[in-house]
Amino acid sequence: MNVFESQAQAQNVDKDRRQYILSFVSYISGTVILLYGLPHLMSGNVALASLLLGTSLTFLLTVAYYHRTGDIDLACKIEAVLVVGFVLALIYHGGHENTALYWIFPFPVILFGLLGVRNALIGNTLVLLAIAVMLFTPDWIHAEYRPEETTRFFASLVIMVIAAGINDFFRERSHHKMSALQLSREQQANTDPLTRLPNRRFIDASLEPRLNQTPDEFLPLGVVMCDIDHFKQLNDQFGHQAGDDVLKEVARLFRKTLRRQDVACRTGGEEFLIFLPRTELTDVHIVAEKVRAKLANTVFPIRGTPHRVTASFGTAVCHSSGELSATVEYADEQLYNAKKAGRNRVV
Ligand code: GH3
Ligand code: MG
Ligand code: MG
Repeated sequence: MNVFESQAQAQNVDKDRRQYILSFVSYISGTVILLYGLPHLMSGNVALASLLLGTSLTFLLTVAYYHRTGDIDLACKIEAVLVVGFVLALIYHGGHENTALYWIFPFPVILFGLLGVRNALIGNTLVLLAIAVMLFTPDWIHAEYRPEETTRFFASLVIMVIAAGINDFFRERSHHKMSALQLSREQQANTDPLTRLPNRRFIDASLEPRLNQTPDEFLPLGVVMCDIDHFKQLNDQFGHQAGDDVLKEVARLFRKTLRRQDVACRTGGEEFLIFLPRTELTDVHIVAEKVRAKLANTVFPIRGTPHRVTASFGTAVCHSSGELSATVEYADEQLYNAKKAGRNRVV
């Protein structure tokens, strides 16, 4: 699994969770509310019947909207507004023989499920304020609750909101921490520790799948294979550490010279592959030539004495997502030709 896939997977899990909450509220709560509403319709209690049946119907319409459009964000927001409207209207009305308050307890938790911690905290606080106003100014509402009941109900509802908020806050935080950890592990596995450039695994795990998924973002994809000239000689003459320092400096030069969308990878000891999205061959040549000239003109202080390093470059262009490995092979052949033709050049 690569970096892009793991991000998508974390989002999918969250979408699944919200989808379950939405379905539960719409189908199960909707049915329960419907079953309580029907007898009131028969007995002519029009206000309560309309509230219960109307809520049940709009819950079902919301889940139907979600199934039609797939827009989980908007569906959850609509459902949350319906839940809040239902809670406030039920408290105002009092329900069957003023038993409304028993039905209110599940809704703070449902809001957390639908809206996430931040929005649910804001929503629940506003709902608590509205409930407080209704309960403590009893003349304004239709319902008649006993004063002992309202204070106890309100206190336990506040505790419930706080407990649900704490629980969800830490659940969300540990979820984010784990995703971030997973992401950094994958990034480390795909990064060369010496130069901090992506390694060969990055090409298979990230670049190629993305090229297959969204080819228009990449094609035509310029490919440049680069190999430092006579590197063995440099190592033999100045030691492995000096060679490592040169590799790090070359990587820095790539990062400085290439565009933001370009990717330079270290694919072997002193070999690099550079990918240039949406670049035709003429421009691939220009970029490779720019890198070559910059490298050839850079002075490397090795053991106190200035030293120059050159590299050879093979270029190619990939025109379809299935051709990536063939293009890389062709760039490798061109690199061989550049070496044969005398090194320090682009072919
Ligand atoms: P050419 O111009 O034909 O490419 O000659 P070359 O000497 O660069 O090519 P060759 O493939 O013969 O040698 C590559 C050398 O790169 C061999 C090895 O000593 C050195 N090398 C490979 N990986 C590393 C590394 O991580 N650090 C250092 N310092 N040297 C490395
Ligand atoms: Mg080599
Ligand atoms: Mg070499």
